[in-house]
Amino acid sequence: MEEVRQNGSTATVWFGDEPVFGHNADRGAWLHPSSECGRDDIPVPPEKEQDSKWRSTVDSRRASHEPKVGKRYKCWCCRWLREVQRHHAQGEVICCAVSNIFNSDWVELYGAGSSELSDADAEAHGLPKEVFRNERPKGWGQGRIRISGGFGGDFDRKAPVHPRTKKPLGVGCRWERQALDGMGFPVYAFFMP
Ligand SMILES: [Zn+2]
Repeated sequence: MEEVRQNGSTATVWFGDEPVFGHNADRGAWLHPSSECGRDDIPVPPEKEQDSKWRSTVDSRRASHEPKVGKRYKCWCCRWLREVQRHHAQGEVICCAVSNIFNSDWVELYGAGSSELSDADAEAHGLPKEVFRNERPKGWGQGRIRISGGFGGDFDRKAPVHPRTKKPLGVGCRWERQALDGMGFPVYAFFMP
């Protein structure tokens, strides 16, 4: 992040050990919209007044538990949306990267990779397909990509599968892309940050 910030700014939010709401609820039936969801810093309503967005755990980087009625939690998606809007309001051009391969050797060093998901892989894993207002680049989530100028050789476009969850990595990144696609201004996407 330090390296990225030297060349621009980022809209990353990070809550560490604090439990927060996230991008889906109700066993995946509810997806966080591109606007505020109404859970951020709002007391959790009594169970019988809870609609689908409340049927979710609150998660930190270490633990996951049921939210307590009456308690306030942050929603990382709302916080992130506000952060993006704030950057846009300052006149910045909003860009997103579909990998965290900042330097080519990060693949080896940190297991950095792509979060692109092809339609075939979405079906195989029971995940939502990545659909945007504009057409996706050819070969989305498949094969290898060569960066202009041949920088660092070429890279896998398929999101690596997490060894424990068996799901393609980058679920939060894919939600962020959908949310950006729903915003009222252009967002430019690149493979590498
Ligand atoms: Zn929210």
